Amino acid sequence: MVDASLKSVEFERPAPSGAMCVSQAWARVPNAVSQAERAELKTRIKRLLVEQNAVLVAHYYVDADLQDLAEETGGCVADSLEMARFGRAHPAKTLVVAGVRFMGETSKILSPEKRVLMPDLDATCSLDLGCPADEFAAFCDAHPDRTVVVYANTSAAVKARADWMVTSAIGLEIVAHLHAQGKKILWAPDRHLGSYVQKQTGADMLLWQGACLVHDEFKGVELELLKKAHPNALVLVHPESPEAVVALADVVGSTSQMIAAAQSMSATEFIVATDNGILHKMRAAAPGKVFIEAPTAGNSATCKSCAHCPWMAMNSLQNLAEVLETGRNEIHVDPAIGRAAHTCIDRMLTFAQARKQPVRASGDLARDGALFAGVGPA
Ligand code: SF4
Repeated sequence: MVDASLKSVEFERPAPSGAMCVSQAWARVPNAVSQAERAELKTRIKRLLVEQNAVLVAHYYVDADLQDLAEETGGCVADSLEMARFGRAHPAKTLVVAGVRFMGETSKILSPEKRVLMPDLDATCSLDLGCPADEFAAFCDAHPDRTVVVYANTSAAVKARADWMVTSAIGLEIVAHLHAQGKKILWAPDRHLGSYVQKQTGADMLLWQGACLVHDEFKGVELELLKKAHPNALVLVHPESPEAVVALADVVGSTSQMIAAAQSMSATEFIVATDNGILHKMRAAAPGKVFIEAPTAGNSATCKSCAHCPWMAMNSLQNLAEVLETGRNEIHVDPAIGRAAHTCIDRMLTFAQARKQPVRASGDLARDGALFAGVGPA
């Protein structure tokens, strides 16, 4: 096994009564490796990917070495949906998903015939942990008149109970479409994203009260002070952030939309309110521009995550090499659950295709006009 230590992680979890309680989870922290070990691991992983007929798909929030490796070896670095779509379209027999568990599950649901491996199967997400399938099913059963819309950051079992899955890039358009049909929405699990979508669309939405432990920590008061210190900086905010932070944004958007905005807008300085793992890609996409992390510490902030997801950080060169060598950490999804979950994912993909709307930004604001419609200025 790879050397690692454990750290405890506190997150807010909605109780079935609707009240909030603080729950404890844990994350494995990979030990640091030397430059020489990093180089050796990268060489080994490149060889193993070829030998295993495997492709590496990585999320924007994982370690920069893994993002570089994915791109250098013909894989991709993307948001969760694009990771799954890329994996489905790629001819490799094995997908290695560097991210958190629901991303591996979504890849498996879209590519059931492929082997899906993950560097660490215990890499989870506070939104997924905070929305257990049995409690969520009871919530849905209590509101049978509502169309169930869930965010991508949920387990396969929760998706299987839903009518629609959405990503942060297309959630607004899908909810607006359902609202225009007179439908009432049951939304899960992120309360901040849900309330942002509700405000933008005016839809009747009943919200599950989950939160992302990274975005929930950005604080409006400290962000306002930072803006004053950098008056020319534009503020890019992911809508999983609290309302007070979204209210200060120049652009509100998904990870792909934030990267596209950084690349395409003429400003040279940006304050970024999302996981700081994204800065690696932003700097590569917009060289010469300055990116400043939105504050998670200060008088009104707690800095539990310090803007980096403890579960995304569980992906390392060491455990990536190990799973390729051993075949351990394969993702399995119950076929019946997978089929049901596939239906709600497919509904979103068909909707996006019909509207010719990308669910991932290309980086060209003119071309991404439809993607940015309804997205910021906040
Ligand atoms: S950053 Fe937030 S939403 Fe993303 S995996 Fe971590 S806890 Fe979940």
